[in-house]
Amino acid sequence: MSNYTDHTDHPDREPEDVNEETVQAPQPDEPEEESMQPENSAPARPPRRSAAKAVTIILLALIAIAALAITLFGKRDGPLPTWQELYELAGFTEAPETHADQLAVHFIDVGQGDGILIQTPTGETVVIDAGERGNEKKMISYIKQYGDDTLEYVVATHPHSDHIGSLDNVIAAFTVRNVVMPRLTQINTPTHSFYKDLLTAVKKSGAKMISAKPCYTIPLGRGQCTVLSPSVQSEKLNDMSVVLRLDWGETSFLFMGDAGVAVEKQLLNGKYAGYLDADVLKVGHHGSGTSSSAMFLKAVDPRFGVISCGAGNDYGHPHKGTMDKLTKLGTTVLRTDTMGSIRIYSDGRQMYTETDNG
Ligand SMILES: [Zn+2]
Repeated sequence: MSNYTDHTDHPDREPEDVNEETVQAPQPDEPEEESMQPENSAPARPPRRSAAKAVTIILLALIAIAALAITLFGKRDGPLPTWQELYELAGFTEAPETHADQLAVHFIDVGQGDGILIQTPTGETVVIDAGERGNEKKMISYIKQYGDDTLEYVVATHPHSDHIGSLDNVIAAFTVRNVVMPRLTQINTPTHSFYKDLLTAVKKSGAKMISAKPCYTIPLGRGQCTVLSPSVQSEKLNDMSVVLRLDWGETSFLFMGDAGVAVEKQLLNGKYAGYLDADVLKVGHHGSGTSSSAMFLKAVDPRFGVISCGAGNDYGHPHKGTMDKLTKLGTTVLRTDTMGSIRIYSDGRQMYTETDNG
């Protein structure tokens, strides 16, 4: 079952659920019937008082909307507000019939782990992580269902099995152009077989291997992904996570991998300090209490917080403290353990969410 939720850019950050099938947006192009009466037709009876009253109320409402629009849009440079903007002011939204011309970010339900697919309308495809070993079949069929056979970029955030366990098989199933991963040293290179399998798969694929460094950008047509971290070596592999920011028009996403509070602190004090606010936060480390400090969440101030974790997982993810902090900020939390795979679409201005389980 699919749940479709349409979110406007309302400043109070409490998006309303809008049922696509039941909302009837006003039709601006349909002139009022009365104005279409030909002048030479038989004189119509004077409208009844109640009808006149209704027309007055509608006119007053339209004037109020127009006045509000002029107030809000009058100061900015550029064209007059569109009908879509006027609809939004009046509390209506029109759900698009298709997401074909929008950015799509999929948070695939891979149980306890991360598996993310990014698709642009012009066909660029990026995969970030692929979940534990055993998820390859699901990841491959999901990507093929929504994407295509070529992955321009695969990002392996850090070599823990809940992120890269299935990535070797995913890489083998597609044409992969580039693989981005953190450069490790003797102090933090794992000896697990799944890491070796990943490196072997990358080598076999012929993809270009890119070590993730701050400022590195992945071009995505009308938008781009920027690597924000890691900037320093750490013995903790979680803190070696590739942290990515995706900008698409006026909308933005922040993908934290499993980065913890030490990385958050570096980001808050580093050159990206003013570049952390984002509409969507892939919450660090599955909502664990070792990530998501209050100060960091405040800086990001996300409208949506996505938590990718498994139902009844052994780690108690997400942590209650993290949930409380997000609730306090007014962030809408989307969880793969309860909602299944989550899709967030962006037209550069508005965002639309869709989940498998509602
Ligand atoms: Zn993890």
